[in-house]
Amino acid sequence: MKAEIIAVGTELLMGQIVNTNAQYLARGLADIGVGVYFQTVVGDNASRIKEALRLAKSRVDLIICTGGLGPTQDDLTKDVLAEVLGQSLVIHQPSLDKMKTLFEGRGIPMVESNMRQALMLEHSDPLANDTGLAVGNAVTHEGTHYILLPGPPKEMKPMFDRYARPWIESKMDHVQPLYSLMLKFAGIGESSLEHALIDLIEAQSDPTIAPYAKEGEVAIRLTTRAASADEAAGRLKPLEQEIRSRLGEYIYAAEDISLEQHILQTLASQGKKLAVAESCSGGQLSDMLTSVPGSSDAFVGGIISYSNTAKHKLLKIPMEQLEGDGAPGAISEETAAAMAENVAELTGADYGVSITGVAGPGESEGKPIGLVYVGIARRGEKASVVKLQQSGNRETIKLRASKSSLYHLWK
Ligand code: ATP
Ligand code: MG
Repeated sequence: MKAEIIAVGTELLMGQIVNTNAQYLARGLADIGVGVYFQTVVGDNASRIKEALRLAKSRVDLIICTGGLGPTQDDLTKDVLAEVLGQSLVIHQPSLDKMKTLFEGRGIPMVESNMRQALMLEHSDPLANDTGLAVGNAVTHEGTHYILLPGPPKEMKPMFDRYARPWIESKMDHVQPLYSLMLKFAGIGESSLEHALIDLIEAQSDPTIAPYAKEGEVAIRLTTRAASADEAAGRLKPLEQEIRSRLGEYIYAAEDISLEQHILQTLASQGKKLAVAESCSGGQLSDMLTSVPGSSDAFVGGIISYSNTAKHKLLKIPMEQLEGDGAPGAISEETAAAMAENVAELTGADYGVSITGVAGPGESEGKPIGLVYVGIARRGEKASVVKLQQSGNRETIKLRASKSSLYHLWK
């Protein structure tokens, strides 16, 4: 099945909002083996929406529109599709009832235009909107499948996942369930990873190989359709082995968990505790760790020793090491080591991790932007320190420094 995504909205055309819906849908469709051949953006204009629909019909089997299902005059998608397919619009009673209850509850009158959101094409399947008011639509006409979804992502996403996706699958021939395997990597960037696997990625057919990169992590998803889990494993395993033989040292998990989750789980299972001392990352590492539910099983806490005063008073690092002629300075191997060793000692944690560096935008201590030292210490032992040169802006450097410290701890 070939698909086209049509995002409707003048705001998108003008660059006022980013077309995240298309990205979400393209991924969701890839997951069920539907190839997206085209993505279109069109303004809130009836004749141009019509043109986009006609063009899409000429080249794909499935057309998904987002946006323009709201109550206002510029919300035209349903009206236009009804006209193109020669169908009238009828009220979807459950949606209207829901709306009435909601307005009554709020004590405000429901106006005519609100009722537009409960309209659907007469020969279509409604797609319920659990997080909003406008009902979605799915309809097959002359062999082409059309799906209408609202614009706001918090409505569009659940509607696609819960209702549109199963509807599409019901239209696909002999669909077998999907099986996928996620490999999570640390310590390697997206481009190096792709470079190492480029022949596999280019030759892929079944299983498919999809690299993902977000928030300083990279992952690869292998997907296949099969009649049984065993059959799927028969195809996924050899590919996983091939990838492991090339990049095994960077793979920390074969499931969709973050590096911090993995580390905390591992530490908790060993009954070990971790403490952190952060300078340039400003608490980001602690934030990452504490975002994992149950982190208290392994995470003791941390010290944000941003200034030299804090490094001295809270982490007991001698002032002579931090400042003055010939001192190594706050951004140094010596200080990273002392931070990691001392935080473990002071908190009684089994491991101490430290981060000190230059997040920018200016230099610090005459040291370049992006220079970061990460210290890893076992309590009572000398720390090992890794010197990194990160690129990017302040935000990226803080994020990468935090992720890298976890990577070096994991290694
Ligand atoms: P509403 O009832 O809010 O009017 P709608 O279905 O009519 O919903 P639009 O009016 O087209 O949708 O867009 C409403 C909002 O949804 C936009 O202001 C924007 O914030 C978001 N939105 C719309 N289209 C997209 C898109 N393609 N990607 C991301 N966000 C979008
Ligand atoms: Mg709208």
